[in-house]
Amino acid sequence: MKKIHGSCLCGRIQFSVDDQFAYAGYCHCSMCRKASGATASAIGGVSEEHFTLVTGEEHLHRYQRSEASISYSCAHCASTLYGSKPDTGMIHVRYGVLDQSPTLTPQAHMHVGSKADWYQITDELPQFEGFPSP
Ligand SMILES: [Zn+2]
Ligand SMILES: [Zn+2]
Repeated sequence: MKKIHGSCLCGRIQFSVDDQFAYAGYCHCSMCRKASGATASAIGGVSEEHFTLVTGEEHLHRYQRSEASISYSCAHCASTLYGSKPDTGMIHVRYGVLDQSPTLTPQAHMHVGSKADWYQITDELPQFEGFPSP
């Protein structure tokens, strides 16, 4: 099974994820915008058994960003890396921190209801007000 490597900006945290993403999209929600400082966040969802933290656990900063979601970042360089969804057993990996390309590219725009109004979506991908039901 193809494995994809991911890391934070300073390299202290390294992880590996099987190339088995179940869904992927651009998230425009206000939490992703705040966490990343970017217009939107490209994320891919993968079942937690496909995810392995390789090194740097001592640098991992855990932030409970909502009841359903815990966000992980590097305490040293502040890269936001992934989030876990304990209710569903899914890990949402931020595609921007991957070092190789996943097979599944972003398929949709999510949470466009809270998109920054200065940003225009110019591609043809489907848009969802919230998180599309699988
Ligand atoms: Zn780091
Ligand atoms: Zn989001």
